Amino acid sequence: MRVFRKISELRQFISEQRFLNKSIGFVPTMGALHSGHSELLRVARNQSDIVVCSIFVNPTQFNNQEDLINYPRTTDRDIELLKAVECDALFLPEADEIYKEETRLKFNFGWLESTMEGLHRPGHFNGVAVVVSKLFHIVNPDFAYFGQKDLQQLAIIKQLVKDLSFPVSIISVPTVRESSGLAKSSRNERLSIEGKNIAAHINKSLAQLESQLLSGISFDEYKSESINYLKDKGIEVEYLELVDSETMKAVSNKLNDNSVALCIAAVVEGIRLIDNRIF
Ligand code: AMP
Repeated sequence: MRVFRKISELRQFISEQRFLNKSIGFVPTMGALHSGHSELLRVARNQSDIVVCSIFVNPTQFNNQEDLINYPRTTDRDIELLKAVECDALFLPEADEIYKEETRLKFNFGWLESTMEGLHRPGHFNGVAVVVSKLFHIVNPDFAYFGQKDLQQLAIIKQLVKDLSFPVSIISVPTVRESSGLAKSSRNERLSIEGKNIAAHINKSLAQLESQLLSGISFDEYKSESINYLKDKGIEVEYLELVDSETMKAVSNKLNDNSVALCIAAVVEGIRLIDNRIF
């Protein structure tokens, strides 16, 4: 696997591959790789001639400095995982390679970001959209792979690609979970074993809520019960929403064939986790 720290060197590699008519699949990450990331890379490996992964803990998408400082960084282990999944190239830039100077461009995704992560993490999606745009310009991929675990991010990226006519297909990959149902996340590394057991209740409560909704109970009737159930387990819910899984608009029930998603952000042992169930 080739490792590139400089934009110019990666661009050179990409243009060589393009000259050879190779298709490029791209998996952007913030590192501390786990089997959720491996799944994205596996799908990319099956679909693209050349698989490029980036590891960049993007400072501009953190609205909380402490979260940025404490974000797990496990580069040596990540490189081993990338080799094992036969990734061809890793882009591993320093922050000043990506941000030579402060970015002035501001994105506004309207109602797509007026809820959930957009509401609770001001500036987060602007940081995501800027860095993903930069990475798309650098890597110039045919396919880019994103996890459904970050469902609102996925909707934002699809909008970004449409609005700016990026010549890339966005491929969404279902959430990979621990056997307990806990969604795999780099942030899980910061949980104790007990914390992981507690955090498994997040998905359990979403599964319960899903079956209640499918039996005709309205979301509003059951929402506070779910929040209280999680509170009893030691989990502080930041938000719990039922939304259309494409538009992210709040809905009160699953009334038609449109797929909906239960989305949650919750804090366990001081660690903020997000998850969702699409049905
Ligand atoms: P991150 O490194 O957390 O920024 O995530 C990089 C990519 O991996 C994003 O597209 C995430 O949605 C995706 N991802 C993270 N966790 C999972 C998971 N458990 N299952 C599937 N995809 C995931």
